[in-house]
Amino acid sequence: MYPNWILQRAYLTPLRNALTYKEQTWTFQQLNELSIQRARQLTALGIKQGDRIAIMGPSKPELVIMIYACMHLQCEMVMLNRRLSQAEIAYQLEDSEAVVILIADEDIEKLPSHASPLLFSAIEKGTEASIVISKEWSLHQTTSIMYTSGTTGFPKGVRQTVGNHQASATASVLNIGLQADDTWLCAVPLFHISGFSILVRSLLYGNKVHLYDYFDVEAISQNIIDGDVTHMSVVAVTLERILHTLEQRSAQASSRFKLMLAGGGPVPVDYLKRAKALHLAVAQTYGMTETSSQTATLASEDAMSKIGSAGKPLFFNQIRIAEPNLSGEGEICIRGPHVTPGYIGRFAQKSATVDGWLYTGDIGYLDDEGYLFVIDRRADLIISGGENIYPAEIENVLLTHPAVKEAGVCGIDDEQWGQVPIAFVVLKEQIQIDQLLAFCQKFLARYKIPKKIIITDKLPRNGANKLLRRKLKQ
Ligand code: ATP
Ligand code: MG
Repeated sequence: MYPNWILQRAYLTPLRNALTYKEQTWTFQQLNELSIQRARQLTALGIKQGDRIAIMGPSKPELVIMIYACMHLQCEMVMLNRRLSQAEIAYQLEDSEAVVILIADEDIEKLPSHASPLLFSAIEKGTEASIVISKEWSLHQTTSIMYTSGTTGFPKGVRQTVGNHQASATASVLNIGLQADDTWLCAVPLFHISGFSILVRSLLYGNKVHLYDYFDVEAISQNIIDGDVTHMSVVAVTLERILHTLEQRSAQASSRFKLMLAGGGPVPVDYLKRAKALHLAVAQTYGMTETSSQTATLASEDAMSKIGSAGKPLFFNQIRIAEPNLSGEGEICIRGPHVTPGYIGRFAQKSATVDGWLYTGDIGYLDDEGYLFVIDRRADLIISGGENIYPAEIENVLLTHPAVKEAGVCGIDDEQWGQVPIAFVVLKEQIQIDQLLAFCQKFLARYKIPKKIIITDKLPRNGANKLLRRKLKQ
């Protein structure tokens, strides 16, 4: 058994700052008291210990308190993604069989009409029932259930246990270190493991979270230049927006700033170089919903010598490559205490692991020194005349062109070659397609040059802002 994280943290460092949002700050003691009160109100509304409940709301303190209240009640929290369509949310509600939905008032319109949720405002005004808060949690208890992004198909509901979160947070801190006065800026969604894991690390380590309810690039950049933030989690798209803002302002990150964790997908090499010029340490990480965030991370001191690598596995984790080809490339498999025990709902029968190994569906290799390089998703691989082509490689080349803002590559059927790559680009400035093709010819083998480059004003992305290459094809 392990201690209830919230009680334990409030006991150890009650007066330390735990959360800042806009002008207001809460200590760990205050968050504990508020979340216990909320747990009593939830109990008065009929919610029982261990119930599976769905939660949705913007990243505001109300949501953090609701999450902590549900943790106190040891409920299984299905974290609903508020960027999804009603149909996608309906799918997750049905699949998860959540007994109730807790929803922030401003998100009520996002729910399918047949749902009958409890509004945050109603819960906050409700009466309190007496409860006994459990001081101990079991490692196997499910804390959260998160749906994968559905990049390759249907979203899968992933169980994340107390043990998974603890192992992930501990391994992360063993790797990057944290100090009591460090502040983690959270502008990634709390319904994703990237944001949720920031809360878990804060509880386990006792450091503050500075929360933003949307990606306010101006305010966030200002915080990086002269504010309290020391750490931050980004994905490639948001990293680029910060780089762009700092460049425009001819500003650099403050000396207080320590590390940017960049995950969720590959980070174009060009961004890493620009970050370096701005004194912004960026650590590329590789992780997924099934591993409760990071599995491997590249130390920032290795960023330039191992450019493009996602680093080495964190302390408790193992990574191996299944069925490698002659170049050592194959499916990335992961084992460790942070790996999910399995899925729920329609994928409940699908075992997440084989002999403890999670088959990720990602292709990669380990170099001579054991650094992981994630190449691409197996599902997006283009096979052209017997050669393997990874869309990410072509996208990376296009992205280094100064006129290109976003790039997406997929394969289309071709009589002669089986498949050939085509590219879609969003431009920053006008340019001729021929010039882009000539640029590709400089950096890519002939068979990798896109058969066509199509200019568009938007690429298809999912709720996590990930490129949907299967939609490009359509
Ligand atoms: P689904 O499983 O439903 O298709 P998804 O895999 O996109 O969705 P997530 O769990 O949110 O859902 O994302 C994890 C995936 O993101 C990884 O399996 C990998 O493909 C990609 N990814 C994460 N980090 C990196 C990285 N550093 N480099 C390349 N790809 C990454
Ligand atoms: Mg996945």
